[in-house]
Amino acid sequence: MNEKQTEELSSLLKMRGDIEVDSPESADIIILNTCSVRRRAEVRIEGRIGEFKRLKEKNNPIIVVAGCYAQAHREKILERFPYVDKVVGPFDFMNIPELLNDSGKLYTDEKRTDWKIILPERAKVSSFVRIMEGCNNFCSYCIVPYVRGRERSKPSSMVIEEVAGLVERGAKEVVLLGQNVNSYGKDIPGEVSFAQLLYKLNDVEGLERIRFTTSHPKDMSDELIEAMAELPKVCEHLHLPVQGGNDRILKLMNRGYTKAQYRALVDKIRDKIPGIALTTDIIVGYPTETEEEFQELLEFIREIRFDQVYSAIFSRRPMAKASELPDLPYEIKQKRYEIFNQVQNEISREINEKLIGTIQDVLIEEVKTKFPDQSKGRTRTNKVVVVEKKIPPGEIIMVKIMDATEYTLKGEIL
Ligand code: SF4
Repeated sequence: MNEKQTEELSSLLKMRGDIEVDSPESADIIILNTCSVRRRAEVRIEGRIGEFKRLKEKNNPIIVVAGCYAQAHREKILERFPYVDKVVGPFDFMNIPELLNDSGKLYTDEKRTDWKIILPERAKVSSFVRIMEGCNNFCSYCIVPYVRGRERSKPSSMVIEEVAGLVERGAKEVVLLGQNVNSYGKDIPGEVSFAQLLYKLNDVEGLERIRFTTSHPKDMSDELIEAMAELPKVCEHLHLPVQGGNDRILKLMNRGYTKAQYRALVDKIRDKIPGIALTTDIIVGYPTETEEEFQELLEFIREIRFDQVYSAIFSRRPMAKASELPDLPYEIKQKRYEIFNQVQNEISREINEKLIGTIQDVLIEEVKTKFPDQSKGRTRTNKVVVVEKKIPPGEIIMVKIMDATEYTLKGEIL
């Protein structure tokens, strides 16, 4: 989400005549688009802002701290780093070009999103498209609803226009982004559902592949599963964050489903869409998680066999309800995290090794800069494939898989 917003802001600034420079030392304006999903991201950003003090004294660039960290800490940023010129939350992020001419310092009021279609000169082969912002779910560990506000969908007519514009500029694949794409459209009376939006996008000429993220399991409708099974451009990959592997923890997390319900959903999806790759997010070391509950989580991932898991150690977030619970000692969390990843890496490797000898359609995304004779692309199931040849990005080639690790496949062009 941040990457896409940064790209859009950069296009807006270029339209008003600004140019991008290579280093902060030669910049007149420095904009930090920040994340606050975990404390670690915040520590990094605080270090970065600290580094700019010397630069401010030397060259006096305008320093803007923007995004979720800005929204979460607001005036405290100005108190701690008085040389910061502006603190801009996600609601005003796209207004930064105008705000640069304004004398104010703090822009963190919650407001409606005025959606704009911002197209780059040349689109990436796989381009992100923001289709909604915010979240209504209030999972106990998550800061998103507090910093990005409630769900706001981009009207479907704009999404379709944007996707068509990206395709005209070279995109072959779009990745639709939202904190919970499954509830797309519910905030706009008469708007289409997410599944219906997929049907409309499937008709965009020249578009080859459609992906989306993230889907909340409790909102995964039969209509959406049907659309995924039916639409040729929608890829056979689903990111379906489960977060925990034990009913007590899932309840504490306020996720709105049990382990059995999640398992039944996975069965239904695998039944309707054979060969689909499933990925997920897991929080390890949730407050009060016992050793038995951690073992249950391991059993659960062994049972479901996700293609890949994005795991994170629990991190206390201000405002989020879970920060009121007693945190586990860091060493326990760290140990469980290591064990968890060992188990999952083995599963991911086994799943990928089964692909050796199969033929896959690979959409080439880039020629590797370090190895110019290698190209990198993805299968429809979102697996990264490297081939030993320079292929123009945007081409879809048939590849025979020759080797596999937990993260990457190696292939030979047919
Ligand atoms: S659904 Fe996702 S974004 Fe929304 S509160 Fe839960 S974890 Fe955060």
